[in-house]
Amino acid sequence: MTELTTLTLAEARDRLRKKDLSSAELTAAHLAAMEKARALNAFVLETPEQAAAMAKASDARIARGDAGPLEGIPLAIKDLFCTKGVRTTACSHILDNFVPTYESTVTSQLWRDGAVMLGKTNNDEFAMGSSNETSYFGPVQSPWRREGSNTPLVPGGSSGGSAAAVAAQLCLGATATDTGGSIRQPAAFTGTVGIKPTYGRCSRWGIVAFASSLDQAGPMAKTVRDAAIMLRSMAGPDAKDTTCVDLPVPDYEAAVGRSVKGLRIGIPNEYRLEGMPAEIEKIWQQGCAWLKSAGAELVDVSLPHTKYALPAYYIVAPAEASSNLARYDGVRYGLRVPGKDITDMYEQTRAEGFGGEVRRRVMIGTYVLSAGYYDAYYLRAQKVRTLIKRDFEQCFAQGVHAMLTPATPSASFGIGEKGGADPVEMYLNDVFTVTVNMAGLPGIAVPAGADAQGLPLGLQLIGRPFDEETLFALGEVIEQAAGRFVAQPWW
Ligand code: GLN
Repeated sequence: MTELTTLTLAEARDRLRKKDLSSAELTAAHLAAMEKARALNAFVLETPEQAAAMAKASDARIARGDAGPLEGIPLAIKDLFCTKGVRTTACSHILDNFVPTYESTVTSQLWRDGAVMLGKTNNDEFAMGSSNETSYFGPVQSPWRREGSNTPLVPGGSSGGSAAAVAAQLCLGATATDTGGSIRQPAAFTGTVGIKPTYGRCSRWGIVAFASSLDQAGPMAKTVRDAAIMLRSMAGPDAKDTTCVDLPVPDYEAAVGRSVKGLRIGIPNEYRLEGMPAEIEKIWQQGCAWLKSAGAELVDVSLPHTKYALPAYYIVAPAEASSNLARYDGVRYGLRVPGKDITDMYEQTRAEGFGGEVRRRVMIGTYVLSAGYYDAYYLRAQKVRTLIKRDFEQCFAQGVHAMLTPATPSASFGIGEKGGADPVEMYLNDVFTVTVNMAGLPGIAVPAGADAQGLPLGLQLIGRPFDEETLFALGEVIEQAAGRFVAQPWW
């Protein structure tokens, strides 16, 4: 039965449709794999009864000839997505036992299309982090290990549980969110594919908010095709989110395998960082060579404001977070720590309910928004953001269709190895990904090689607004050339 977990989403879908396989069997195989993989801590809640019931309903629909695009496919859901009647905590103590009375738009579209929910995956608290180490439920262990070493590694973050669940073949795909890199960085660390769509492509309704002008949902999957299949179900207009655009959703899967001949691919100079490991430079060159031999044209481009992206992000994102997280007051959701009066209760609840990284962001955010500092920090960061966006727009206006960059400046690292003394060390993980959120563009991370210790490395493709299709076409070229990267079970 376990070999069912090695199927890709597309393969499973095709076998289910041929009635060569039932969703009940497929779901049971994944639930069994999850049980065996508890050492990874990828799931913070398993929902086996719900999964079995959904699988049974899917099998009935398949039998009736009424199958949806994701009929019977078992998926994992990041704990940032509200799921009706199923505990949702954003992996924060402050949301202890919060059970939403509503379903996020993205997940409801997955269920509408027939998908099966296996459980909720671990993430950094309120999605703040790059290693999944800030979760109230503890870190996730990557399914990958360095060759000849037992050191537990991080799966990246904040969508670390989703990345580990896909890489360990505990699900056929997972939902994730990306505010500064949280889909693409964990995908790169775990040898999986992750796409952050254009801002406004997927509804944010019912997703626990971190930084509302940057947050975007997207899929993590085993292959480019699988990510394309999932995104089609996740995307689309939603009247409940005014930032979600009213554009039809293309058949993304049709773009997989499409020719990339004649596409102009920008190689941004500013992404060549000093001190970047030679292996990262090497796979970047390799990626260029693959795209070139598939008929794409490579052009050097300049994005001169790149170096300001990370500092500006660490003003804008905490500012929005401090405002979004004001709602956790001990009255409306989750945890309440009693105090001598109402102010004391607020203070006690927030002090106990938020972890260290979240408290740091709330304090930075409050500071940069306060009178006297607003113009110097927040407003300035917003202006920088406009310049970053303009850099990309100028390249696209000159005929560049997409850009190719490394996804991360390093491979995965050990749990506890980074950011202990200096949080900036952790923030640097996102140097290649935050620019894309600041500009609102789509970005995909695709596994492209391995480092000397056998750990996967990813490349990032950045696209024009709402042109995810080109990213799927280019991503497929890289995947075909690089092959897939599958973790060997140690758990
Ligand atoms: N690592 C970044 C941060 O900590 C991005 C996180 C994310 O994309 N949610 O803010």
